Amino acid sequence: MKKIGVLTSGGDAPGMNAAIRAVVRKAIYHEIEVYGIKNGFQGLMEGDIEKMEIGSVGDIIHRGGTVLYSARSEEFKTDAGQQKGIEQLKKHGIEGLIVIGGDGSFRGAQKLTEKGYPCIGVPGTIDNDITGTDFTIGFDTALNTIIEAVDKIRDTATSHGRAYIIEVMGRDAGDLALWAGLADGAESILIPEQQTDFNDVVDRLNRGHERGKKHSIIVVAEGVGSGFDIGDRIKEATDLETRVTVLGYIQRGGSPTASDRVLASRLAAEAVDILLAGKAGRMVGIQNNQLVDHSILEILSQKHVINEKMYKLSQELSI
Ligand code: ATP
Repeated sequence: MKKIGVLTSGGDAPGMNAAIRAVVRKAIYHEIEVYGIKNGFQGLMEGDIEKMEIGSVGDIIHRGGTVLYSARSEEFKTDAGQQKGIEQLKKHGIEGLIVIGGDGSFRGAQKLTEKGYPCIGVPGTIDNDITGTDFTIGFDTALNTIIEAVDKIRDTATSHGRAYIIEVMGRDAGDLALWAGLADGAESILIPEQQTDFNDVVDRLNRGHERGKKHSIIVVAEGVGSGFDIGDRIKEATDLETRVTVLGYIQRGGSPTASDRVLASRLAAEAVDILLAGKAGRMVGIQNNQLVDHSILEILSQKHVINEKMYKLSQELSI
């Protein structure tokens, strides 16, 4: 293999730039040409492709977002769209591709692999919702952003004695809510993987209030429902004043943490190595601090699960 490509796809995540940097530098280290494809699979179909040099990825390791931009493309889900992408790969002589993104992006990578273009997936999403890796790139930064925000809310909560409901990202996965809730000492954590026992949420709030607790924090993953609806229900069921904060897109931005930069660098460099070693249709991951790779088909067939023991602990610590 003499020429490879790299793209970022789906929702952007802090640390994607560190991953792009590692792909480019590792490829050049191996004396391979590397091409940056802008705007994900959309840009691939449109031929928005340029050669990258060592300097192309200078001064980006600490930046959030992705210098290659990201996009979602319905057209690429079709056979015709994938053929368009393949035409562009052929035109530029690109023989293999590194796809940095979430599970949807890996479906695209798998389709290209099946059509003869070897792809390797690098898990980049703040949700941490991909099996086969303990952590995804961006999760740690998003988690720290949430904690910083909740700490500030906690200061004002203490002054006013209210119940604060914080809605965080996570349509199908509750990892951000669970980790943030545990790190912030939340009274209750509501996540899609666990049936919400609303009576228990109310009991915990009332118990805290009765023993003179000045503030209460409830972390809700967006997949469970609207933070405002939950706030209304709590207000009806208790005498507590409630305030709702939806953190929204601030969770996606910001300079990546050291952990995310290191994780991104390790995973992306490994992706280049296994692509050059002849592997295809694989996703790189980290498990027990060891670099691993798994078949994308296998990853896509598995459902993300929550760490039950951690969830139980969060309940035990907020009695
Ligand atoms: P996030 O976790 O942040 O949502 P993601 O990678 O899962 O990231 P998606 O929007 O699901 O985000 O997927 C990104 C892109 O991957 C899609 O817009 C589409 O171009 C491509 N893609 C998704 N599913 C398929 C598929 N079945 N076949 C081909 N391409 C796909």
